[in-house]
Amino acid sequence: MSVDLGPGYHSPQVQVAVRLNTNESPYPPPAGFVAALAEAVAATAFHRYPDREAAALRAALAELHGVRPDQVFCANGSNEVLQTVLLAYGGPGRAAAVFEPTYALHAHIARLTRTEVVVGDRAPGWRLDVTEVRRVLAAAEPAVTFVCSPNNPTGGAEPAEAVAEVAAAATGLVVLDEAYAQFSPWSALSLVADDGRVVVTRTYSKTWSMAAARLGYLIGPAPVVAELERRALPYHLDALKQAAGRLALAHRAEMEARVAAVAAERERLAAGLAGLDVQVWPSDANFVLFRPRSGEGAAVWRGLLDRSVLVRDCSSWPRLAGCLRVTVGTPAEDDAFLAALAEVVDR
Ligand code: PMP
Repeated sequence: MSVDLGPGYHSPQVQVAVRLNTNESPYPPPAGFVAALAEAVAATAFHRYPDREAAALRAALAELHGVRPDQVFCANGSNEVLQTVLLAYGGPGRAAAVFEPTYALHAHIARLTRTEVVVGDRAPGWRLDVTEVRRVLAAAEPAVTFVCSPNNPTGGAEPAEAVAEVAAAATGLVVLDEAYAQFSPWSALSLVADDGRVVVTRTYSKTWSMAAARLGYLIGPAPVVAELERRALPYHLDALKQAAGRLALAHRAEMEARVAAVAAERERLAAGLAGLDVQVWPSDANFVLFRPRSGEGAAVWRGLLDRSVLVRDCSSWPRLAGCLRVTVGTPAEDDAFLAALAEVVDR
């Protein structure tokens, strides 16, 4: 019998002038990276399977983060990393804890792998409520606890003390989903240890401007990485992706400059939103959650779409009634969004 997965999770891919719905980077990758990748493509032995261990990529990521290659697991996007974690540590008879509202794929992939989903609430303002976390962990003893920081779609990073408390209270694996970590004031990478229970997941999709390449990874205890490797399909990471991931890391300075630019633009976008008839939440990521004061999120989403601006409609999601999420774009895209929103909410 199949599992009831509900409507699934996807953002419509419609043709619009201004696309701010999936938290991608507004900028393509540096030209130097594209040229280096083109050379690597030309030198690829296409008739051979790729390096099954992805050794060069893992070594490069290990060097970037100051860990060992056997503490790095790579997959086709961080979603596939999360799926592999749940294949290894979830499944029938085990539970995964999520604190809503949060990234919908955590619960979705848990259900896909027939892992029971236990749900806790966040505090007002969307931070983790450590008392609630302790209650859920003690009641369900989840095999996997998800913490998304900065949290999608609400935007805030969790304080380091709260994450340390979650790790101390957990009996199973604690997955820190750091898809937006480069924008965050801190990272939980320092909590990863071979005898610990914390793993950190990252993606190339956002700050590395490589959403099209589908590459994500996990930094965790070596024994956990070994378990994940056992669940991955043979040669699941193709040679082009391995090269792309390795070559991108040579452009770290450009990436950091983009992060700084996007963070500054986020503040300009948030200030623009604050001048309109909407409620705005502070963000440590590359997107901003807001709620039209009319409460009519879906109608505002439609009004924006009519003006060729696409944002994420969260208005029907539990705990997020009326909310919309906008990705930080280029200054021109954000101006177009703000102008369209002003027309829609001030009508
Ligand atoms: N985690 C979070 C919190 C995300 O927002 C996303 C992207 N929507 C992902 C993971 C998945 O990223 P990808 O599979 O592109 O690496």
